[in-house]
Amino acid sequence: MKVLGSIKTIDEVGRVVIPKELRLKAGLVARTDVEVYAEKDRIILRRYRPGCAFCGSPENLVQWRDNYICRSCVEELKSENPGTPAQSVD
Ligand SMILES: [Zn+2]
Repeated sequence: MKVLGSIKTIDEVGRVVIPKELRLKAGLVARTDVEVYAEKDRIILRRYRPGCAFCGSPENLVQWRDNYICRSCVEELKSENPGTPAQSVD
């Protein structure tokens, strides 16, 4: 089997040390939030960047309670809900 990187051992509580050169290349300094997820037979780890709760865009975000929403979706929501109670659709 061809080895593409260094071999690391996961400890008893699931931790593994990411080689410094890989951390630096990815901009992962101490206390950086990371997102971890599975994709087929791989575990993906990447720097966490908040995205719009509706479309996922990382651009032009505004925070609303515990979520981020992009200005485009905010405008779309405003146009669909112009500040009046919901109207029934007959
Ligand atoms: Zn959006």
